[in-house]
Amino acid sequence: MKIQSIRGHAVSVPLTRQYSVATEPFTVASQIVVEVTTDDGLTGLGLIHGRAVKSVLENLRKLGEMLKGTSAFAHEAVWAKVFSLTNDGAKIYRDGDISGMGFRTGERAPVMAALAGIDFALWDLKGKACNVPVWRLLGADDPVVHAYASGGYYQHGRPLEIVADEMAGYVEQGFTAVKMKVGGATPAQDIDRVRRVRAAIGDGVDLMIDASRSYTLAQSMDAIHAYEPFNPFWFEEPLHWYDATRGMAKLTQHTNIPLCSGESESHLWACRDLVDLGLVRYMNFDGTRAGGATEWLRIANYCHAHGVLMATHHDPHVHGHLAAAVPNGYCVEAFVDNDRDPLWENLFSKRAQIVKGKLVLNEDPGFGFDINWDYVKRYRA
Ligand SMILES: [Mg+2]
Repeated sequence: MKIQSIRGHAVSVPLTRQYSVATEPFTVASQIVVEVTTDDGLTGLGLIHGRAVKSVLENLRKLGEMLKGTSAFAHEAVWAKVFSLTNDGAKIYRDGDISGMGFRTGERAPVMAALAGIDFALWDLKGKACNVPVWRLLGADDPVVHAYASGGYYQHGRPLEIVADEMAGYVEQGFTAVKMKVGGATPAQDIDRVRRVRAAIGDGVDLMIDASRSYTLAQSMDAIHAYEPFNPFWFEEPLHWYDATRGMAKLTQHTNIPLCSGESESHLWACRDLVDLGLVRYMNFDGTRAGGATEWLRIANYCHAHGVLMATHHDPHVHGHLAAAVPNGYCVEAFVDNDRDPLWENLFSKRAQIVKGKLVLNEDPGFGFDINWDYVKRYRA
């Protein structure tokens, strides 16, 4: 089973209104679907989280040329080869075979994103070649994974308090855990939002709060003290991007609320530092944003040895296979608001289901999803 071609399909769907986290607005839902075909006629599918970036598509095209003829089972070798491009450009030029590919330090992020999509597609291919779902291939026996409903965005033109009804709606659907955004309004307004949500969902539901890297250390200390009476389950990405690791350790000295981070990181080493230096208790690394399933699994192993639980970020139908299999897999993140994430409802012709607050993986080979190609055609970016 050799790699024959690699293609990326970018999709960008306009949202009905603008949604914001504390640090950025969203007006579209975007994803890149990666197809890896093999010489024996199989097609593996991978997903890349995030906006349609031209450079990711361009890197997928270049990597397709470079990896053509490589064994599709060789996910580690493919990973090492692609990763070397982010670090070792001069040597690659001397080697000659991939000279002129034009990888530069500024392309690290798009190369890691392209690698994510290719790596997931290779794992999908493994499952399809063996005719088993990836969660079984990885050793899981239970296809059901705890899921939390992610939402609570700031919605353009709508009052801040509507977050309480939104979160209560998720609980009505059967979720026992919900997540809302903070950090985007004034401190008093955000405290009021969290208070209203806790009152609306009751004490028995886990409430995660996500600051999307919007606070200084001092602000995060004030904020967590203000939120503590409402018993947050975790405090996610509290600190600005430039102090997002060691600052976390200082924050943990001031609160018993567990910290969660990882979604903004692109590799194992940064996640190691979040564990060692940041003292996080939940790791929500996003393998579809960088590094793929292979890197996610490495991070999960490191976290397991340090008592850190894995929470996934986006795309529960693929990340769920990984969370189901590792001993420290805790939960997946689900976006069940169609207005915020039309892709979940429309991009797939088949996929795992969210049922009463749980992700239920299927028995189909690979990651168990297929693409609605008409939808891709309609919203191709
Ligand atoms: Mg987040």
